[in-house]
Amino acid sequence: MAAPSQPQQATYDAIVIGAGIQGSFTAYHLAQRHRNTLLLEQFILPHSRGSSHGQSRITRSAYPQGHYARMMPDSFRSWQRLEAEAGTSLYRRTGLVLLGPAGDLELEGCRRSLGGVEDLDATTLAQRFPGFRLHAGEVAVWDGTGGVLFADRALRAVQDVFRRHGGTLRDGEKVLRIEPGAVLTVTTTAGVYRAPRLIITAGPWTGALVAPLGLRLPLQPLRIDVYYWREKEPGTLSTGRTRPCFMTLGLSQAPHSIYGLPALEYPGLVKLCYHHGSPTDPDKRDLAPSGAPHPNIALLSSFIKSYLPMLEPQPAVVETCLYTNTPDGDFILDRHPKFSNIIIGAGFSGHGFKLAPVVGKLLCELSLSEEPSHSMAPFAITRFPGVLQAAL
Ligand SMILES: Cc1cc2nc3c(=O)[nH]c(=O)nc-3n(C[C@H](O)[C@H](O)[C@H](O)COP(=O)(O)OP(=O)(O)OC[C@H]3O[C@@H](n4cnc5c(N)ncnc54)[C@H](O)[C@@H]3O)c2cc1C
Repeated sequence: MAAPSQPQQATYDAIVIGAGIQGSFTAYHLAQRHRNTLLLEQFILPHSRGSSHGQSRITRSAYPQGHYARMMPDSFRSWQRLEAEAGTSLYRRTGLVLLGPAGDLELEGCRRSLGGVEDLDATTLAQRFPGFRLHAGEVAVWDGTGGVLFADRALRAVQDVFRRHGGTLRDGEKVLRIEPGAVLTVTTTAGVYRAPRLIITAGPWTGALVAPLGLRLPLQPLRIDVYYWREKEPGTLSTGRTRPCFMTLGLSQAPHSIYGLPALEYPGLVKLCYHHGSPTDPDKRDLAPSGAPHPNIALLSSFIKSYLPMLEPQPAVVETCLYTNTPDGDFILDRHPKFSNIIIGAGFSGHGFKLAPVVGKLLCELSLSEEPSHSMAPFAITRFPGVLQAAL
């Protein structure tokens, strides 16, 4: 008779929980600094149950908030480094247009982050983005660095390089328990692991993982529907020269935060989504009430009729993903207020993919008590009062 399998037991320099893009980059930076690192993932990889799956994410230099704008050059360089290390292309430069009312404060912030570029008028915009209609009083700002990151390929690349640097990635192992201490103990469905530092990057599951550690973080998982729309005339937007990504900042006939990417995943289908979703439990995101309409289709159809009339006004493909939002939309990158060797990276609020190389570096630096490469003030847990619950 075969002996029952023994649970794994091992000690590492660092343990990272969650092999989404943030945890994978954190583990990569630790392994590059020669720290014996364990990266744990609850699902068998690759999976599509978190926030990092799919083919595409937008990247850009334009950011209204200075703290993100200052991180972007570092991020672009780090993506290039990963491309070189992995020997694969992870970014397609398409340019990005920001569309908003003339004089809009956020648009001005973006323009500042780009070093003060000129507005595009409707004619120039139409040359770069044929068929896009602007209305009176609306302008476009061009970010020539904008483009598409190949998300699934990037996740695989960073995990491959992590392993090449000697890191251990164990998937299909869910973390069940964390015992704090100078040497922490992490119990999973298959083993017990110890390390002097722990980084929690568990995406929409972070709230549940840190609650037993006495933390109530204001993290809201949201179900996001991802839509792909067919061109009325095949080829108008999907063939020929490169088409840009775009984002809206409150147009006269459409709300803030609609974004689009040129056809990539599916031939002839343009990805066009709304940056808002519905609160959900990450384990129950598919359980929408039966027959419930997709809440954002009407809004996006109306946008298409007003601004992108070359697309069919009904989506051809619908997929889902998850955001984990904070109340102010800024990330949480900080130590646990009571257990300083537990570091938390969460609340990426639907815009964290492009910054993952820098996020991973900052979380790695925090865990090793190194001077952070960027100001951490905007990401502090203490900006949310009352998150630390009764002592354990
Ligand atoms: C539709 C959509 C479009 C987006 N577009 C953009 C964009 O254009 N540009 C941009 O910059 N960003 C974008 N984002 C945001 C970006 O994708 C996310 O910020 C990023 O992927 C978050 O990564 P993460 O590692 O924090 O989370 P996840 O990818 O969710 O990773 C967390 C991981 O932790 C694992 N885990 C959780 N609990 C446990 C446990 N107990 N034990 C072991 N493992 C565990 C999970 O299984 C998961 O794999 C978009 C997101 C979505 C959903």
